[in-house]
Amino acid sequence: MTPSGKQGLDKGGSHRNGTLLIQGSMAITMVRGQAPIPEARILVSGGIIVEIGTVDQVKPPTHDRVNVIDAGHVIILPGLVNAHTHSAMTLFRGMADDLPLRKWLFEKIFPAEAEFLSPETVYWGALLGCLEMIASGTTCFLDGYFFQDQTVRAVHESGMRGLIAQGVIDFPAPGVPEPRENIKAALEFMERWSGFSDLITPGIFCHSPLTCSSKTLTKALEISSNYGVPLQIHLSETKEEVHGIIAKSGMRPARYLDQLGLTVPSLIAAHGVHLDPEEIRLLSRKGVKIAHVPESNMKLGSGVADVSGMIRSGLALGLGTDGCSSNNDLDLLREMDTASKLAKVFDMDPSSLKAREVLEMATTGGARLMGLEKEIGTLEKGKKADIITVDLDRPHLCPLYDPVSALVYSANGADVKDVIVDGKVLMRNREFKTLDPDEIMARVRELTGKLGTRFLHP
Ligand SMILES: [Zn+2]
Repeated sequence: MTPSGKQGLDKGGSHRNGTLLIQGSMAITMVRGQAPIPEARILVSGGIIVEIGTVDQVKPPTHDRVNVIDAGHVIILPGLVNAHTHSAMTLFRGMADDLPLRKWLFEKIFPAEAEFLSPETVYWGALLGCLEMIASGTTCFLDGYFFQDQTVRAVHESGMRGLIAQGVIDFPAPGVPEPRENIKAALEFMERWSGFSDLITPGIFCHSPLTCSSKTLTKALEISSNYGVPLQIHLSETKEEVHGIIAKSGMRPARYLDQLGLTVPSLIAAHGVHLDPEEIRLLSRKGVKIAHVPESNMKLGSGVADVSGMIRSGLALGLGTDGCSSNNDLDLLREMDTASKLAKVFDMDPSSLKAREVLEMATTGGARLMGLEKEIGTLEKGKKADIITVDLDRPHLCPLYDPVSALVYSANGADVKDVIVDGKVLMRNREFKTLDPDEIMARVRELTGKLGTRFLHP
């Protein structure tokens, strides 16, 4: 059953646990300048962190209605924020590998989407995405795709937090066969889901400055601004895209967006692989935010973004996986490792994108992109309880000299033990509490079986 609207959905916000006590061998708060807390304990009430400190500092409440998570030998840290993905693209994982972006997109992904995407397939694909993200420590994600009513539905059922955006493109698209209706569809999506849940922010995602007209782009920004939410876009992903925009406008992509009035602090641009230094300075000056997606850029052979240059210029950066068909997973712990090492290769400098910097991108950076830096991204009194634990009883995490190094360079998503969003436990000791993994995987296997081998490479 996949109703297209709110039918059958409870309004969010009423699910939070009363009181939760989380303790483990250490906590990394991600508050600048704060050392790891040894023998850490966090008290959560009504979805909010009310106390954090050592077990000696934080006393358990005297009443007995406390859900205690004694996670043992773990690192407790803020939930990770995936700054750029298309969650239902889990459906196309491994379907069209080893192809350049244009061939991958126009000959494989677009035709597969046109034939296969429906409210039902997007719903199950998005649920699989949520399942994979919870399993690997992501608590919040920025998503853009089609049939997004179903992604909202899946995210709501999962208990995750997210910016879920309706895709806009000036071509016939899944669910929006008439391109002239794309802005109307986006506006209706915003109207439908605004105020629905504390955890889900509806938004708009323009596919790119090449596949959306200037009119579409400015209209999308106007609606996003009216609703006070970020606008997402793919920007400067390939050289081909840059040449296309220069041919169309006589300007490089960032300059073109600037001329249209789109370079505003609420714009989140994914990729930014081929931004030149002048464009980086321009975007930084205007407060535009960047979602860095190194593995997708690597897999599609698109190039390497100048992350160190972006950091030096003061650009706000988050870290994302992109969709599963160009990565091919949603594991942000692995993405951190790649991001750091790729920056070192690009700069030929081992001190580039240090472990701490990349962990900031995946936590506080993502929170900033969402505009939620006052609510999530760090473990602090008064912030929302989006918390994960990473199991240290693993051969590849032993010995432990520096927990941040262990998280970035040694850990992977399968090491995540517990996941809590807004004070609600979504995974405890690797057991899912909101989603049924067997049912989701069985449904996805059944649905994708119909795809056949038509779209397989070559
Ligand atoms: Zn993308």
